[in-house]
Amino acid sequence: MPTDIEIAQAAQLQKIIPLAQQRLGLPEEALSPYGHYKAKLSLSHIDSLQPRPDGHLVLVTAITPTPPGEGKTTTTVGLGDALAHIGERAMICLREPSLGPCFGMKGGAAGGGHAQVVPMEDINLHFTGDFHAVGLAHNLLAAMLDNHIHHGNALGLDVRRISWRRVVDMNDRALRHITVALGGPGNGYPREDGFDIVVASEVMAILCLATSLSDLKRRLGAIVVGYTADKRPVTARQLQADGAMAALLKDALAPNLVQTLEGTPALVHGGPFANIAHGCNSVIATRTALKLADYVVTEAGFGADLGAEKFINIKCRKAGLQPACAVVVATVRALKHHGAPAQGLAALEAGMANLQRHVENIQQHYGLEAIVAINRFDADSAEELALVQAACARWQVRCVLATHWSDGGRGAQALAQAVVQVCQARQARPATIYTDDMPLPDKIEAVARKVYRARAVQFSAKAQQQLAEFKAQGWEHLPVCIAKTQYSFSTDPKLLAAPEGHEILVRELRLNAGAEFVTAICGDIMTMPGLPKAPAAERIDVDAQGRISGLF
Ligand code: ADP
Ligand code: MG
Repeated sequence: MPTDIEIAQAAQLQKIIPLAQQRLGLPEEALSPYGHYKAKLSLSHIDSLQPRPDGHLVLVTAITPTPPGEGKTTTTVGLGDALAHIGERAMICLREPSLGPCFGMKGGAAGGGHAQVVPMEDINLHFTGDFHAVGLAHNLLAAMLDNHIHHGNALGLDVRRISWRRVVDMNDRALRHITVALGGPGNGYPREDGFDIVVASEVMAILCLATSLSDLKRRLGAIVVGYTADKRPVTARQLQADGAMAALLKDALAPNLVQTLEGTPALVHGGPFANIAHGCNSVIATRTALKLADYVVTEAGFGADLGAEKFINIKCRKAGLQPACAVVVATVRALKHHGAPAQGLAALEAGMANLQRHVENIQQHYGLEAIVAINRFDADSAEELALVQAACARWQVRCVLATHWSDGGRGAQALAQAVVQVCQARQARPATIYTDDMPLPDKIEAVARKVYRARAVQFSAKAQQQLAEFKAQGWEHLPVCIAKTQYSFSTDPKLLAAPEGHEILVRELRLNAGAEFVTAICGDIMTMPGLPKAPAAERIDVDAQGRISGLF
């Protein structure tokens, strides 16, 4: 089997304008092409689509993953292609890949095998510049903040209470903790600072939750950058940064249209982290796709305890979206990993508890029918696949074997048919885990008990103090975004399968007043990843003709 990039480079791409005209009925004026194979969809045209009815929204989520990923993006693409294959008008919505992981361990994030969005080199490297715009808007606010302090600090910011860090789209551990403004009075007031990766920026979360340019500007203005000595919040609006930030983001807010290897249209737009943020592509892209297609397939980051929970409780709640069903991607490899230390079929049998727990959560707590998609790997044996299917049959859960990675959309036809049946039956009753008016600690407890099956939630002294402050400041109505390891239902990455009765410790909270959620930090969460010992960057190259190799 050739590599992902070899498959992508061998593909015959269609020019994006005719593809948009033929597949989506879009007029040429609705698109701003970036080269021949990428285009931004104009916000004014998007507005004109509003009276149309919505298509069905299909969420692709997964069991608790292993580090290489279990194939959510690959399955999202494969399912979109398969829906087109069986004659449905389908579209795909994905996050934009971050540059950092591309050069690190994980590689690109444009799908894999014969289920990819293309041009994969462009999508993985720079794309249409959205992340650069996000990074710059974020860093403009940081620069204006330090400049404000330098020129007299009229707002009275306490330099020890500044929460707005800087960002760059690279895995660079050397920048996690730094000191800025060294070198004398001309350079400002020295203070501790640090960098996060761009996808961890609140500006990224805002871009993905904003519903219009004016909503984007309103949210940017509400960002809290730090506090005064008497603990009053200081906002981007008070620093008068919101207008310029929105100006930098004007084009980034328009979704990017590309295609799959099989010519299915895909919107690839926005890319917030799935731990400290909500891990979904932009609301604007999803809403637009629902106006343009009958079936929209989208992915939410990590396993269903994180991705699907935030998709429902943050994105859908805020954007008024109604998903029709959820596809749970499972791999034999990861299920066996959850069954360790047992070996072979016994490990797989034991690891099934993880899949069962996710399926139960989706059905009971999110009100959606779950369809299990076994993402088939070459190493899977017939006995292993039969075991997974038999267990799902016992639970009365639809389970479909999918081979889109090796066969493209054709390999996920049965999955597409199952999705169509579930959507047509219209039995979804999407439910949120908590209501807006519940106090913040109760919201966290609701997720921890219902989804993570924790026995109790503990709040550190710092977290308790912050909860009291947020309540006094009027943030109690916001949804919560729980940042925890993606490798376990608990906060301990070593507790595999389906742990119960564990405790969740909330160490601290972070207010995202512009994105409009409160992040609860449980465990060590990295907002600036590092590169591994042998980073993928060592193998990435470009030849004299401009042909890139080594991306995967
Ligand atoms: P996720 O979105 O869940 O993180 P991806 O879809 O990005 O996962 O897939 C992770 C990696 O696994 C990609 O490099 C992809 O090519 C590879 N992969 C996915 N499905 C298969 C499969 N069935 N066989 C082999 N490799 C696969
Ligand atoms: Mg993915």
